[in-house]
Amino acid sequence: MPIKAAVMTAPGAPIELWELEDPVIEPGGILLETVSSEVCGTDVHLHHGRLAGVPYPIVPGHISVGRVLEAHAVEADTLGAPLESGDLVTFYDVHETCHSCYYCLVAQQPNRCPRRRVYGITYSAHDGPLGGWAERIYLKPGVQTIKLPASLGAGDVIGGGCGLFTGFAAVERSELAMGDVVLVQGTGPVGLAAVAFAALRGAGLVVAIGDPSPRLKLAEALGADVTISLSSESESEREVHIRELTGGRGVDVAIECAGAPAAVPEGLRLLRDGGTYVIAGHYTDVGNTTINPHIDINRKHARVLGRWGLDFGHLYRALRLLDRNKGSLNFAGVIGRRYTLEEANQALADVEELRVTKAVITPARA
Ligand SMILES: [Zn+2]
Ligand SMILES: [Zn+2]
Repeated sequence: MPIKAAVMTAPGAPIELWELEDPVIEPGGILLETVSSEVCGTDVHLHHGRLAGVPYPIVPGHISVGRVLEAHAVEADTLGAPLESGDLVTFYDVHETCHSCYYCLVAQQPNRCPRRRVYGITYSAHDGPLGGWAERIYLKPGVQTIKLPASLGAGDVIGGGCGLFTGFAAVERSELAMGDVVLVQGTGPVGLAAVAFAALRGAGLVVAIGDPSPRLKLAEALGADVTISLSSESESEREVHIRELTGGRGVDVAIECAGAPAAVPEGLRLLRDGGTYVIAGHYTDVGNTTINPHIDINRKHARVLGRWGLDFGHLYRALRLLDRNKGSLNFAGVIGRRYTLEEANQALADVEELRVTKAVITPARA
């Protein structure tokens, strides 16, 4: 039976509904029935052509949860949990990392492996249902899978989406110490996850700067002690506010999850001397900004780190924390609306206009 998919044919073009052929399941391959996939900021950027090397037309949707329909000679997920038909699984969108190039072997930066491919981003729709905006997803042999812990439903995972794991990775990258004052810039899905995991990791105070107000409410529910609205305080008022909270020093750790260039000089300014700044929100190229190297970095002894996407380990360990802290990490509550494949254009527009915090594609919904 053909597979209905929402296809991004070119930057700027409306999403089209296509019918893709059912894939041949190779040994080691798994066919999933898509339960839920996400629409994230990256999909908006893909729609604006802001990521290099994307082979349009593509089936978007890099983080998804599906039910095992059929597996060919696969008995367990990547780490050995037995897999049966009907089980709920998620998978690491990055695939075909070569483990034999300079970046894989010497630099140990597999995220920079030139041979890596990413579901929902770097596979063409002509290669098959290799993205989550489709009724079924084909997991090629070697795609790293995780069977969901029994306590978790698709919404718990996709409500955070890739932002959940990116926020987790950014907090870990900061190495924040227990008791640190942490500033999170941005209250989209990445920022909300950074807030939640910073609080869980033992921050002394979590401050979030963002907008609109429903997102600030979500930040509070997930662990922010103080939220600051971008639209109701000017940049200089925000600086006064943060200095008041920190004895005039600035924050110990700041995590940029805004994806806006202007956030970077502001974040560096709000950092205390010797503090750590992690830039996690600029997954795609959204432009330049100006900093003062002397004031913002050198004299300050700032530690400035980038965090691009996530590793399989982040996915696995973040799910473990979701399983253990389901009450406090309510990411299902972040879902603003569920969309059918036919509504994919609306979903993209709603994410771009910040009308919903997390938009979710549920292909099976009648
Ligand atoms: Zn490699
Ligand atoms: Zn994403």
